[in-house]
Order: sequence, then C-alpha cells, then structure tokens
Amino acid sequence: MPQTSPLSRIKFTPDVTALHPAVVAYRRHFHQHPELSLQEHETARFIEKELHKLKLKTKRLAGTGVVSVIRSGKPGPTIMLRADMDALPVTEENTHSYRSRYKGRMHACGHDSHMAMLLGMAKLLTTHRVARGKVKLCFQPGEEGEDGAGKMVAAGVLEKPDVDFAFGMHVWAPLRTGKIAVISGPAMAAVDEFEVRLIGKGGHAAYPHSATDPVLASAAIIENLQSIVSRNVAPWEAAVVTVASVEAGTAFNIIPPVATMKGTVRTFEKPVRRLVERRLKTIVRQSAKAMGCRAEIDFIPKLPATVNDKKMSEFVRGIAGEIVGPRGVADIKPTMGGEDFSRYCEKVPAVFAFVGAQNERKGAVYPHHHPRFEIDEDALMIGMELAWRVTQSYLRNY
Ligand SMILES: [Zn+2]
Ligand SMILES: [Zn+2]
Repeated sequence: MPQTSPLSRIKFTPDVTALHPAVVAYRRHFHQHPELSLQEHETARFIEKELHKLKLKTKRLAGTGVVSVIRSGKPGPTIMLRADMDALPVTEENTHSYRSRYKGRMHACGHDSHMAMLLGMAKLLTTHRVARGKVKLCFQPGEEGEDGAGKMVAAGVLEKPDVDFAFGMHVWAPLRTGKIAVISGPAMAAVDEFEVRLIGKGGHAAYPHSATDPVLASAAIIENLQSIVSRNVAPWEAAVVTVASVEAGTAFNIIPPVATMKGTVRTFEKPVRRLVERRLKTIVRQSAKAMGCRAEIDFIPKLPATVNDKKMSEFVRGIAGEIVGPRGVADIKPTMGGEDFSRYCEKVPAVFAFVGAQNERKGAVYPHHHPRFEIDEDALMIGMELAWRVTQSYLRNY
C-alpha cells in the first residue's frame, strides 16, 4: 500500500480488514444488479439468503424491506443500523467489469455500498458476541423519492424491540477517502414539492389584449418567488426555492390558456419551512391575480429535515476522530439535498454520517446520480470500521 494512502494511517480492526474483500464482492454484486425504488425484489432475496447463511432470522417490512435482529441475550439498548437499497433510473456509463447489467438502472447514489457494509456488519456481529442489548439491521427500500423510510416506520421498524438509537451512513462523493463528516443538528434539508396551474384565457398571439396570458404571469411568479429567500427568510437561516419546470403553449402564434410550473422548497427549520410555504402561496395567488389569471397550487410536503441528535453526533464524531484522526474529521456544511433517514430522526435519537469516497486516482470523482458515479472501495473499510466501533461502543456505554 503506498504511503500516501489515507488507509495506511488508520488502525483497522483486523476482522474488518479481513472482511473487506467480501464486502467489495457484495457491493459489486449489488452494483451489477440494481433495482429501482420499491422494486428491490431480487436485492431483498439476496440479502435474506446471506443473512440466513449466518443463521439470522429475517422479517419483511414495507414489501421489499428486510429487518433482522441480533440479540446478545443480555439486557441493554437497541441500536438500529440502516442501509438503503434502491438504485436510480440512470444508464451507467462506466466500463468496469462490474457495471450495471441493465440499461436505465444504476446504483448511482452508492446504496450498493450501504447494503454491502451492512451485510459485512451482520458477519462481524455474528462472529463476535454482541456485548449487551440488541442490534437491528434495517435494509430499507425506496430512499430515492419514495419515502421508503416513512413506510418502514409506519410498518413498525422502530418497535419490537424498540430502537434507542438509529445510525446510518452515506458514502460521500464530495469528500475524499479517509474523511468522515458528522454534522450536529440539521444535516440534510426538508423537502417540499409544489405544482402550480395558472389559468388564463387563450387567444391569438397577435391580439394579447383579448387574451389573458398565463406565460407572462408565470414569468412574474418565478421572479417574485425569489423574493422569499432574499426578503422573507432571515439572512442567517437557509432556504431554497427553485422553479424547475415550466410548461405552456404549443405554437409561436397562440397564447395558451394554461401554464404549469413545478418546483421544490428546501429548508432546515420548521418555522422557516412554514414561512416559505405561506409566502409561496400568497405570492403565487396574488401575482397571478395581478396578471388577471387564477392559480391552483398543490403544495406537497415530502420529507422533514434530517436532524442529527446533538449528543449522539458528538459520540459518533469522537469515534470518527479515533479512526481517521482529528484532521480526517471533515467540517462540512449541511446539504440542501433530502434524505428519508429523516423519518428515523423524527422518532428516535439518530445520526447520519458521511463517509468520504472520492479518489481521483481511481476515477471516483463524479457526483452522486451521475452516469459515471463511482466510489473508492477503500471507503467501505472505513465505513465498516465506523459502524463497528459505533455499535460496540454504544452497546457497551449506553
Ligand atoms: Zn440519491
Ligand atoms: Zn443516496
């Protein structure tokens, strides 16, 4: 191993190092066989088969979710380790031997890695004794826009045994391998979606005075919506309002009767989330009215913010520091992306950590969801080490 490798500075648990090839093989298997959200049938069967080999019992939740509990037989807390299972509707452009076997499906977010590490943890936890309490393994479907976590919570994943602490990780493309980030408090944003239908009156493009133009109204609305972040949200709070889709019209010489717009709102704090929703509705309605149009608004709350428990974040960050050293613990800003791990954070103390997986030498430089997304598989070892030490330390000390 070259001296420059961040791995050479890390003291891995020997069993984690020994498991690395198996975890890489798992990851590549999942990578070759991606399945879309809530359709993770083969993925679930593969996970069940592997867990059954370890003599673990499994339970299905929310269709393709797989849950298994490892019991120490001694009283103590329950930690839940979560991996998401779904791939994305992306056609892979990588050319490596383990690229996706299917057109239009790719593990382009890294959930293949999460499942592989959790299967690795199952092996570690069954070969070592769990000190006390219980470990719940949660393989969760449908993270990408389907709120699989919400479905798992509704199906009772946090009960029987009751979960005292939930831990999740994401391999993270913006961070170099050897870095770990644990954000205390809000780490990923709340996600809302909106759809606006602007109803005007169609007509000839040459006679706008006899029509009511919803295209012009949409332009006014798009501009006015940008005043929410700049003029309503306090400067020290964070919010995003994006109109991402505008559709109207069929020809150069026709004013259409209707225009539609779609977009998203991202926030961290509940009062800010409510403020943005209120202002968005007012601005859309009033701007439409000013332009003679009528607006129909659908405001669809999707996910709450992923808020890491402060005390438990300190605990996980401390362990991360022991693994990658104080300089390896990255001080990154929260992201405006959403993550349904937030559903667990809403109910129990939870921490979602980012494990750096970027490595220029290995071509692992593309962002999540990109057709050439790739991770540095050495990151799997770091993630495993983190999950292992967090689990051990939590069960011993809490
Ligand atoms: Zn994703
Ligand atoms: Zn993801």
